[in-house]
Amino acid sequence: MKKFSEIYERFIALGADEQTSKNELKRIKLFNGFCLVWYLIAVSLVLSELVSGNVVGSMVTLRNHLPFCVVISIAQFLISKKKYELSYSIFILCLLATCFIFSNMLSVGELTEYYYLLVPPIALVFFDNNKINYIILILALLGFVVPNYIYNYYPEHSFDELTNPLLLISVFIIVNYFKNLNIKNEKALKLKTEELEELDEFKSQFFTNISHEIRTPLTLIKGEIDDLKEVAKFNSDVLKVQLGVNNQVEKITKIINDVLDLAKMETSDFKLNLKKASVTNLLKKIYVNFEPIFKQKNVHFFLNIDNKNYFSEIDTLFLERALNNIVVNALKYTDSGGKVVLELKHIESKLLVSIVDSGIGISDEGKQKIFDRFYQIDNDINRAGGSGIGLAFSKEIIELHNGKIYLDSKLGQGSDFTIELPLKEVKKEGLAVETQNFNTKKVYEKEFKLNTSTSKVKKILVVDDNREMRQYLISILKKYNCIEAENGVEALQKLQKNSVDFIVTDYMMPKLNGYGFIKTLRKENYDIPVLMLTAKTDTKSKIDVLKLGIDDYVVKPFEKEELLVRIENSLHNQKKKNLYNSEYKLSENVENEEENQTLIQKLAKYIQENIHKTEISQEQLSNYFNVSKSTLYRKIKSETGLSPNEFIVEIKLQRARELLNSNPDILMKQLALEVGYQHTSYFSKIFYKRFGIKKDELVE
Ligand code: ADP
Repeated sequence: MKKFSEIYERFIALGADEQTSKNELKRIKLFNGFCLVWYLIAVSLVLSELVSGNVVGSMVTLRNHLPFCVVISIAQFLISKKKYELSYSIFILCLLATCFIFSNMLSVGELTEYYYLLVPPIALVFFDNNKINYIILILALLGFVVPNYIYNYYPEHSFDELTNPLLLISVFIIVNYFKNLNIKNEKALKLKTEELEELDEFKSQFFTNISHEIRTPLTLIKGEIDDLKEVAKFNSDVLKVQLGVNNQVEKITKIINDVLDLAKMETSDFKLNLKKASVTNLLKKIYVNFEPIFKQKNVHFFLNIDNKNYFSEIDTLFLERALNNIVVNALKYTDSGGKVVLELKHIESKLLVSIVDSGIGISDEGKQKIFDRFYQIDNDINRAGGSGIGLAFSKEIIELHNGKIYLDSKLGQGSDFTIELPLKEVKKEGLAVETQNFNTKKVYEKEFKLNTSTSKVKKILVVDDNREMRQYLISILKKYNCIEAENGVEALQKLQKNSVDFIVTDYMMPKLNGYGFIKTLRKENYDIPVLMLTAKTDTKSKIDVLKLGIDDYVVKPFEKEELLVRIENSLHNQKKKNLYNSEYKLSENVENEEENQTLIQKLAKYIQENIHKTEISQEQLSNYFNVSKSTLYRKIKSETGLSPNEFIVEIKLQRARELLNSNPDILMKQLALEVGYQHTSYFSKIFYKRFGIKKDELVE
């Protein structure tokens, strides 16, 4: 059946291709349709004669119809060669000839002359040229009227002189009128479409131009503000201004980028870079990124996912931006004390990401329009800011992922934005996670509780003998609660009175230096992450302190961002470590800490010795040290807070950092290869994420 319909489609569109205009396609289909009907009539007439046993009659019918069938198949051949007018002309002449032969020879007196009535209207469909249409009308008229005058086939009352030609002409005029009306409408429609397209193009171009125009002064402002950095180091007021302006510049840049991307999306050459990637991981990342600002506003934030890993074809960068917009809105429109849930479910072959908030909700009118560009509902929150571009951007991105976005909302009760994406694969979590029945949802909820219970600002102990340096560090770390100490001895005293989340310490100090201080900390079982500030030349001391198991070190002079990123990372890893401990280690109470530490040291040594290899995997480690994958996972996680893969990456990055310190001119590519990364861009990305040092700050 399917084959039959395919053959029919091909037959009916014979002579058309992608370039054929809509109008021409209609004519071609009509022409081929007529030809098909003609063949079918001829065949059925011959067959019916045969079935009724009239072989002679069937031969006569065949003789009568065959020549016409041959001629129209020639016309079809010509149409397949795109000789449209010629084929239509042959077809119309064929119709006229058939009428002539039937009315004057084969069926005289059977009123077959009336078929002439059809020919001029049919010709009107095929030809736009008025001359051709009038010639056909005259030929039909002559064929219709003249023979009867010469041969007198009918009595006068049944073939009246004037009414018949008038009938033919009026049919022609009526069909011609509707045809012209149709042409006029089509032209007007085409003109309107062109105007709209032009307007749309102008709009996109305008967006693009204006956005580029805004970008230039923005870059300049950013440059000027960056110049304030040096002054800001020692003046907290200037620092405040610098941070404030930077913050606003970033906001505007984000809006501008969204506008530019939206404009780009309208051109056909915009393409997402779709790759199979984990949506579960993306949501975890979004959750972790947003969690602190939710906490700041005191909005409860939950991640609701199961312990499987769901994959879809996504452009991680763009999808993250799209989801970020919706999460930001959820936070923006939910009051303190409210709740936002980020959830991942799957139904058959579809992944559903929901962002549900208990915020102000959206009216029915608003629901219709909020995905329109620049649309904002008029309320107090919007009056204070926003651009109305976020959701339009998100929707476009989601649709480019072959996805859909749904909104369910009630004014005063909250909103539920659900994004549907095609599901490509489901993987069970890593072995350790599976065997331990690691319930991610539970962990995240637990993490949330943990965070809220310790929702106080983190406390950092800053240890440095230089007063100005301490002041500078405290100004950089002003989002934390800082206490200070002049040296190791004083720091130990402060630790007895305060519970501290993080320590930043200098290496060279009087009384008790950094090395001695950390050694004492370890001896006295303080499990606080430490970041050491070292001078560039102190290679040996760096190695010494690393051996003590400190979390990180930063070489002076350092960039503010670098310091902040590294403290954030350490705090984050510590959080994971605590979480893991509270989840398993403490409850199981079977782990031997010393034994673990030696295993960790052995693992680190093994990774360092094989650092240039691209493939150091979890399997390799578990085979080499003869421990199961789940044990390996548990031990690394409990000691470091990292998964085995994160642990491998961490050691590689630490090594890269050392290499960079000892040879600042090293090429990025070489650095990547030294620690077993073949793709420099990927390496520089994770290096930046870890240490806050940008790729272009290194010599490429
Ligand atoms: P913006 O937030 O910059 O104004 P968006 O396109 O992101 O622009 O959102 C458009 C409008 O939709 C917003 O002005 C807001 O009124 C409404 N809106 C979006 N998300 C929510 C939400 N979670 N709760 C209530 N209103 C919302």
